[in-house]
Amino acid sequence: MPRSFRMSRRSFLATSAAGASLTMLHPFSAHAAAGQAHLRLMETTDIHVHIFPYDYYGDRPVDTVGLARTAAHVADIRAEATNSMLLDNGDFLQGNPMGDYIAYERGMKEGDMHPMITAFNALGIDAATIGNHEFNYGLPFLMNSMATAGFPAVLANIATEEGASPTADTTLFRPYVILDRELTDGAGETHPIKVGIIGFTPPQVMNWDRRHLEGNVTARDIVATARAYVPQMKEEGADIIIALSHSGIGAPEGDMLENASVPLAAVEGIDAIMTGHNHLVFPSPAFEGFAAVDIEAGTIHGKPATMGGFWGSHLGVIDLMLSNEGGSWRVMAHDVETRAISRRNEDRSITALVESDPDILASVQDDHDATLAYVRRAVGKTAAPLHSYFALVADDPSVQIVSIAQKWYVEEMLAGSEYAGLPILSAAAPFKAGGRGGPEYFTDVPAGDVAIKNVADLYLYPNTVRAVKVTGAEVRDWLERSAGMFNQVEPGAADQILLNPSFPSYNFDVIDGVTYEIDLSEPSKFDPKGVLINPEANRIKNLMFDGAPVTDDMEFVIATNNYRASGGGDFPGAKGDTIILEAPDTNRDVIVRYIVEQGTIEPSADANWRFAPLPGTTVLFDTGPAAEKYIGDVKGVNIEPAGDGEDGFARFRIGL
Ligand code: MN
Ligand code: MG
Repeated sequence: MPRSFRMSRRSFLATSAAGASLTMLHPFSAHAAAGQAHLRLMETTDIHVHIFPYDYYGDRPVDTVGLARTAAHVADIRAEATNSMLLDNGDFLQGNPMGDYIAYERGMKEGDMHPMITAFNALGIDAATIGNHEFNYGLPFLMNSMATAGFPAVLANIATEEGASPTADTTLFRPYVILDRELTDGAGETHPIKVGIIGFTPPQVMNWDRRHLEGNVTARDIVATARAYVPQMKEEGADIIIALSHSGIGAPEGDMLENASVPLAAVEGIDAIMTGHNHLVFPSPAFEGFAAVDIEAGTIHGKPATMGGFWGSHLGVIDLMLSNEGGSWRVMAHDVETRAISRRNEDRSITALVESDPDILASVQDDHDATLAYVRRAVGKTAAPLHSYFALVADDPSVQIVSIAQKWYVEEMLAGSEYAGLPILSAAAPFKAGGRGGPEYFTDVPAGDVAIKNVADLYLYPNTVRAVKVTGAEVRDWLERSAGMFNQVEPGAADQILLNPSFPSYNFDVIDGVTYEIDLSEPSKFDPKGVLINPEANRIKNLMFDGAPVTDDMEFVIATNNYRASGGGDFPGAKGDTIILEAPDTNRDVIVRYIVEQGTIEPSADANWRFAPLPGTTVLFDTGPAAEKYIGDVKGVNIEPAGDGEDGFARFRIGL
């Protein structure tokens, strides 16, 4: 028996006969005639285990995330349309501490239920595809997770046998499904329809999860795979075909594209396309000017398309007006929208636009509670305290640990690539370093247990890892840009104020893997915004790699984050054109993985940078009063307490 589409209200006809307002109904449902039907396709994408509206790193409720919130929109939309389907576009098993809790602590044995699957089952989704992050914890984890799904998972471009033809039966998941459904038309009559659903993931998973996938599966080009399967789906009687493209909106063409949704939409036979992976919203101005993309109509190559943000931020909706011609359904009109779960106000406060669906919350309450305990509990140990009190004046363990984890991760990602032979440096900046945040605004994790909550403290932003390829000259100028943190100092003078208050600490990148000195007697080469103001200035002295001076034409890889690599802070060598790795993982997740895998971390700073000696010169530096207990640990700088600073800060004197 074909499953019926969820009926919106008891009966659309009863409502209209009673003369009740139809304004709640979408016009396609309101106006469909006999032989015409409105089908509403809803998309969730890139949920990344965000079911509860909760930030597990910050250990606090938030209104900007959560499938339980998106679910409220699902209920509304089902009420507004005669026929609807709900599809998930992938990246649901990994990406927050609940995902790590399941993978690292609770486990996913055969028969275990993953909370995302529990929530999807409760929500009643019709089908899903597999995103790149579904591979992060390995194939047994993935297959065990999907075994309890009450819906089909489709993925056409990951194969288990090398070289087999795309349509040979060798895919890891079924490449597509053809769902038999009952469609209610404008006259209230039901008719059968066959809805074809095919799924895709970026072929780059082979690099990103090489350790899990190499030798087990192979990836195929998304568009070529679609061209092979879509005609087969038509032959099997699909009336309409929906592509679940866990792939972004990007280039108009190319081989093995990561973001292939534009050429995919052009494949004949595909009627509608769900996109994702970019963690953006479509339609939205973010995609203005992209080839073949119409952000007004919400189409790519004239096909209706959507992208529902990420972490449950939006529900994507594609409305299809179908007409039955000779027993087969075709799309006669379409409409696209997205529904946000929250709004950011002008004062930057957040207003929730929907309430959580209590059934979805209840379905995973136990795993939520266990995740709370998990983030508050030790997942590893640190051999040295992780604090940022002196991060602006000396090499520092809170910055060092970020650098170490980034380098560890990028090394693995680049293994086997054309960049594998290049030296890998790592850039990181102190995010919590007093300033406008106040005298308590520092990272301060004592030696001993490290909990996941502490990682949020070390790395505040949900950045993702990037690697850039730069020259020795660019490394030097990157550091010159960072050194704008400090005021120019007069040699021989006493008690000069060290920090430039208009320079944010997150732009004070320390580059690990090289050694250098910062000469404060020189003016800064760049202003706090990154504008070149003193071309001849040279604060960076004795820049060395592996015991030898760094020359301008040397080549390096620098591990960093998406903000910096794409031009944030306007750093030389990091303006978007030097990126060689756009990694799928967040810096925070990489730090957690590093700690979990290492057990005990050794974040001791290696004093790879210091101020150049200026005999007889002293400067004053304000930091949190709690800094005093660590003063004996500070390396490479001569520092002593100097009383109280302003606004509750403590003052220290540094002899240069
Ligand atoms: Mn994602
Ligand atoms: Mg260091």
